[in-house]
Amino acid sequence: MPRDLDGALPPALLVADDDRTQRAIIGAAAARLGFRVVHAASVDAADGHLGNEHFDTIVVDLALGERDGIELLRSISQLRPIPRVIVASGCEERILNAAVRFAHAAGITGAVAVPKPIDVARLSALLGCKVSPNTAGEPTATLPPMTAAAIARGIDNDEFFPVFQPKIDLASGRVAGCEALARWRDPTLGAIDPADFVAVAEATGQVGEITRSILSRSIACVRDFAKCVPDFVLAVNVSAALLTDLSLPDEVDRILVDSGVSPRSLLLEITESVAMADIARATDVLVRLRIKGVGVAIDDFGTGYSSLSALARMPFSELKIDQSFVRNCLTDGDLMKIVRGSIALGHEFRMKVVAEGIEDEATRQALASAGCDLGQGFLFSAPLPRDAFLAWMGDWAARDRGRVLAAT
Ligand code: C2E
Ligand code: MG
Ligand code: MG
Repeated sequence: MPRDLDGALPPALLVADDDRTQRAIIGAAAARLGFRVVHAASVDAADGHLGNEHFDTIVVDLALGERDGIELLRSISQLRPIPRVIVASGCEERILNAAVRFAHAAGITGAVAVPKPIDVARLSALLGCKVSPNTAGEPTATLPPMTAAAIARGIDNDEFFPVFQPKIDLASGRVAGCEALARWRDPTLGAIDPADFVAVAEATGQVGEITRSILSRSIACVRDFAKCVPDFVLAVNVSAALLTDLSLPDEVDRILVDSGVSPRSLLLEITESVAMADIARATDVLVRLRIKGVGVAIDDFGTGYSSLSALARMPFSELKIDQSFVRNCLTDGDLMKIVRGSIALGHEFRMKVVAEGIEDEATRQALASAGCDLGQGFLFSAPLPRDAFLAWMGDWAARDRGRVLAAT
């Protein structure tokens, strides 16, 4: 079997699809990314391969002949370690999403959906490789497949760091704080976005170490940020998966004390990409954080699992409306209804409401008129490294804030 230069076996991918053409397309995309590809045309054939060898990734077609893809997902959920799963299907979107939710509930927490006909660029990105939008699906192979070993190396070498994006008070135009967003500085590839590593780190259990590093590094900046804005609040993203760790509140407290930062200057944004496994533990952790004075936001509200049931059971202090509702709310009346409804709901729960993804002035004005408290988006600033963010805050106070208020 061919090995790479380090002598390691290439990652193995099983493509389970009864359509020969689809198998060929998926197999070719994976092979270009360095996968060893095994084909299965039925659930029985796939089960046979699973019994004989380990696969890093499995692409599962939902309509797989007599026995369907759900049965295969059930078999995959029994494997240890559980491979990464991509569910591909031409079924209606709601069926595909329900199948992925089934996979999550069965313990395949990293499962993702890809609609058919397959978008090769999207599939390649999911398989762990950045694709240039100009090369008609030809991967540029700038990123190797994301593996636990690669992430562990990044953690050991201290390559994860935060960038900061301002959160603006929409009524006054003042900076209210910022969100710290993780980046991975690979020595040869430059800054890698969280879309390329967070889901993998969640699936491998490494996201806790990344979060600790982002927390300490960004909390260390708060004293400088507060020189520009005295009541500055720093937000840090925390995967819902980490809320099973009962030591989290004490650990956060210790980092705050060590840096001399008040708990009121910190807010944790809970990103719930998979269903919360243990609601009692998560509530325990969130309540204790709130008692200490740390704020807690429900991130990407309205998408995935960030929804009404989470609102009802958790003591959130802030609601962040997902950017998928905000970006086109001026042209799509249905989206605007969701935005307005979310603002009203958030205020019912006495939460601050934040709109993410504000890219133009007209949207900012509409959200301010709708009573949204805070805004975040490229209109104000892209995420910036620490020093650039400090400089941006100085400029904003002198220039942009005046312009925003003049336009209101
Ligand atoms: P998020 O927490 O919802 O963060 C907002 C994302 O939207 C950021 O992407 C930001 O760069 C992007 N964004 C902000 N304004 C605009 C805009 O006006 N238009 C558009 N199109 N995009 C905008 P980023 O930095 O790539 O982060 C993506 C997601 O990765 C975050 O979504 C968050 O869920 C996750 N993430 C980031 N850092 C961490 C982390 O330290 N831990 C965990 N668990 N997740 C993280
Ligand atoms: Mg966030
Ligand atoms: Mg968000």
